[in-house]
Amino acid sequence: MPRRIIPVADVSAVPLISGPAHIPSGTLHDSLARPLRDLRISITDRCNFRCVYCMPRAVFDKNYPFLPHSALLSFEEIERLARAFVSHGVEKIRLTGGEPLLRKNLEFLVERLARLTTPTGRPLDLTLTTNGSLLARKARSLKDAGLTRITVSLDALDDPLFRQMNDADFALDDVLTGIAAAQSAGLGPLKVNMVVKRGTNDSQILPMARYFRDSPVVLRFIEYMDVGSSNGWNMTEVLPSAEVLAQIAAHYPLVPLEAHSLAETAQRWGYADGAGEIGVISSVTRAFCGGCTRARLSTEGKLYLCLFASSGHDLRALVRRRDSDAELTSAIAQIWQARADQYSQLRGSPSGHAVDGAPPGERRIEMSYIGG
Ligand code: SAM
Ligand code: SF4
Ligand code: SF4
Repeated sequence: MPRRIIPVADVSAVPLISGPAHIPSGTLHDSLARPLRDLRISITDRCNFRCVYCMPRAVFDKNYPFLPHSALLSFEEIERLARAFVSHGVEKIRLTGGEPLLRKNLEFLVERLARLTTPTGRPLDLTLTTNGSLLARKARSLKDAGLTRITVSLDALDDPLFRQMNDADFALDDVLTGIAAAQSAGLGPLKVNMVVKRGTNDSQILPMARYFRDSPVVLRFIEYMDVGSSNGWNMTEVLPSAEVLAQIAAHYPLVPLEAHSLAETAQRWGYADGAGEIGVISSVTRAFCGGCTRARLSTEGKLYLCLFASSGHDLRALVRRRDSDAELTSAIAQIWQARADQYSQLRGSPSGHAVDGAPPGERRIEMSYIGG
C-alpha cells in the first residue's frame, strides 16, 4: 500500500465477509431500500488542474504521493468489476478522477464498457466527467469508442478568474473549444457543472447562464461541498442554490421541471421563455441521500458507499486473488445490502456528524481520489 500524506481509505479498508454466493438479479437494495443503479469509477487520482476547492496546490504539490501505476485497476479489472455491478442493477457508469482524460488509452476502456448490457439487454448509459482541457483532441475518439454523453466542469467565463480557479494557468478557450468539439462529436446532451464558491466565482452565475441559454447545454450549479479534508471548507463560502436561482430568475424567469428519476441529484428548472434548461445540485442545503443509488469505485479498486466515507471495501484484493465471478458478485451484494450511509441527510443533525460518514477526527477521502 503506498504511503499517503493524507491518510484516507487505505488505512482502514473494511474487511469483507465471505458468505453464500448471491445470485445477481438486477435488484439489489441497501438497508434503506435504495437500489444500486449508478457506478462512478475513478480511473486516475492525478489531475492537470489544481482547483482550489478540490486539489489545493499547497497539499497536492510535487511531493504528494499519487498512486503508483501498479496500484491502479487495469482496464481488464475495471471491466470485470463493472460487469459484476451491472449484473446487480447498475444502469449508468460514469468515469471520473482526478482527470479521466489523463489516463492513457482511455478509449480502450470505453470500448470494453460500452459492450456491457443490463440484465434485460439494454446498453448502459456510459458517461464521463472532465475538466475539458484535453477534450478537443479526445471527443471524437471517445464517441467512436462508445461513450454516450459527457459532463464538463467549468467554473468561470472570465479567463483570469478561470486560470485563478484551476491554479494551473489553463486557458478558458481550451475548455470552450473542448465543449464545442464534444457537441459536434455527438456527445450530447452535454452538461456543464459549475461549482459556486461565494466570494470567488459567484460573479459568474449570470454570465454562465447567459452564455449557455439558447443552447442544448444543461448548465448545473453545484454547492461547494465539505468533501475531503484538504480544501479548508467553510460554510460561509457556500452559496445556497436558492440564491443562485433567485439571481437568475431576476433576469430570466424560471419554471420548475419534473425530475427525470427519483435518484436525480439536480433539481431541474427551465427558462420560462423556452430558452433551455438549468439545474441546481444542492448537496449542502438540500440533502438527497434518500434517493442515493450511487456506488463509487476508487482508482485502486476500493468500493465506497458515500462521497463522505473515510474507508472503503477492497475489491481489488478479491480480483487479484482470483476470486470467481460468483464470489465477486456475492461480496458486492453483501456490502451494498449492509449500506446505511446518509451523510448529507444527517449533516445538520444534533449528533453533529453523520452515521457512516467519517467520524470526527477521521479524514475523509478526497474528491480527486474518488471522483465527483
Ligand atoms: N476532473 C474532472 C472534473 O473536474 O470534471 C472529474 C473529477 S472532479 C473531482 C468531479 C466534479 O467534482 C467536478 O465537477 C468538480 O467541480 C466537483 N468538485 C470537486 N470538489 C468539489 C467540492 N468541494 N464541492 C463541490 N464539487 C466539487
Ligand atoms: Fe482536477 Fe477535477 Fe479536482 Fe479540478 S475538480 S482539481 S479538474 S479533479
Ligand atoms: Fe449519497 Fe453520501 Fe451524498 Fe448522501 S451524502 S447523497 S449517501 S453520497
